[in-house]
Formats: sequence, structure tokens, C-alpha cells
Amino acid sequence: MAFIVAIDGPAGTGKSTITKLISEKLNLLNINTGIIYRCITLECLNKNVTVNELEKIDDILKNIKIEIRHIGKQDQIFLNNENVTSRIRFKDVDSNVAKYAALKIVRDKATPITRKMAENNDVILEGRDIGTVVFPNADVKIFLDCSEAERANRRYKQNIENGINNLTYEEVLENIKQRNKLETEREIAPLVKAEDAIYIDTTNLKIEEVVNKIVNIIKEKRSY
Ligand code: C5P
Repeated sequence: MAFIVAIDGPAGTGKSTITKLISEKLNLLNINTGIIYRCITLECLNKNVTVNELEKIDDILKNIKIEIRHIGKQDQIFLNNENVTSRIRFKDVDSNVAKYAALKIVRDKATPITRKMAENNDVILEGRDIGTVVFPNADVKIFLDCSEAERANRRYKQNIENGINNLTYEEVLENIKQRNKLETEREIAPLVKAEDAIYIDTTNLKIEEVVNKIVNIIKEKRSY
């Protein structure tokens, strides 16, 4: 049986960095599920398809191919065979992704893609609905939280590290607030802590402290 770790929480809690470090320490396959929603959003933007054009979105979803290639240090993301690793972090995707991610047809596509990516692997997945919807029986469930200002600060720095300099701190903060509202208030798979998830507030914790906490929780549950 594969071992599944679910890490959920809002944008900017340190989820990606923390998940990556844990995956390396414990040899777990790392799946960042946000990239699936970002790729779908990018494809819709490329084809000028708005959130109201459900039939057109459905057509896009029928043919879309999203891949994570685990090459070198940073996973490379391919959308219909094109490398979009940086492109899916740009402002237009950032400010539209939560709207497309709220659509039922989009989630009905993304959830099986995620399960397929995880198949037959010991995995750590990060997202918004992993512990509630995608893998409700995950072996370990963590919900990461953090103050809004600190989340914007972290996301801003992360963008710069990734060579994405087209967003100001204020824009990042505004975007975080808007996305959070959409994600927590949406009808399908809202961002909410699973009842049995362990809650960790990372506002005043260093990355290593959070990583060690979660590594210890996993080690207690995993017998190999
Ligand atoms: O994690 P990241 O910020 O890259 O995710 C991008 C967007 O994808 C989120 O703002 C959210 O709207 C959506 N998402 C989701 N469910 C997930 C992962 C991401 O709705 N499991």
C-alpha cells in the first residue's frame, strides 16, 4: 500500500517549500496540485475562453495534457508538451486561477489527474482539498496556516527567487486576499481543514521547524 501525506492550506503558508524539503528527506514523490489548476487556467487564457463558457472549457479539458517531469532540482511542468514552469506563475494566471478552480468541470478533471499522478507511489501532495476530497483516507493530513501579511511576504520573495519580478508586494497581497476569499467561499471543495488534519500555524516558525515537526509526525505513522 502506498503511503499518502496530504498538505493543505492557503497560498503563501510555505507549503511548496516545506513539501519539497520533506519529499527529499523521506523519499516521497512530491506533487504540487496547484499546477494542474494553473495549467488549465493558462490554456483557457491562451484560447480566450472565459469562466462562463463552460462548453468551450469542456472542450479544452478533453484534450489537455498536463505533466510534471521530475528533472533535476526543480520539477518542470509541461502543458500540451510545452514547458510552462515559469509561465504558470505570471500575474494573469495568478489573478484568474481561483475563478477557474471553483468550476465543477475543472475540479472533476483535476481530481482524477491528481490521483493518477500519485498512483502506486509513496507521495506528499500539496493543495487545498487533498485531505478533504482527493485523498480523504490519507495517512497523514496537515493543514498549514499563516497570517495574511506574512503569506504575501513569502509569496513575493518566492516569486523573485523564481525569476518572476512582474508583481509588486501590494499586488501579491491583494491577490492573496482575493484568492483566499474565493477558495474558502466556493461551493465545491472549499479550502477547509479536514476534521482529522493537524493544524500548524507557521507565522512565527522557521521553515526547518515546520519541516521537522511534519517529518516527525510522518515517521511516527510510517513503519518503513
Ligand atoms: O498552490 P497554488 O497557489 O499554486 O494553487 C493555485 C490555485 O489552484 C489556488 O489558488 C487554488 O485556487 C487552486 N487549487 C485548488 N485546489 C488544489 C490546489 C490548488 O483549488 N488542490
